[in-house]
Amino acid sequence: MTGETRGKNSPRFVALCGRIFRDADPAFYPRVRYRGRTVYLCTETCRDAFLADPDVFYRVHRNSEKGKNLTGLEKS
Ligand SMILES: [Zn+2]
Repeated sequence: MTGETRGKNSPRFVALCGRIFRDADPAFYPRVRYRGRTVYLCTETCRDAFLADPDVFYRVHRNSEKGKNLTGLEKS
């Protein structure tokens, strides 16, 4: 009867690029203000990519949040 102590309290957030972090504190990750919101990035490299072209980055990754199936399909 005490099955849900874990999960609700563990910090969890989604970086703007679509990466999902569990048991991670967002305070340790880069964040930027964008359109009045605070958004998180997984790495400083990721943040730099965002800052280089915020609108494009946001649009691309916002779409990938819905369909998730884009992950792993990138050509190398
Ligand atoms: Zn990222």
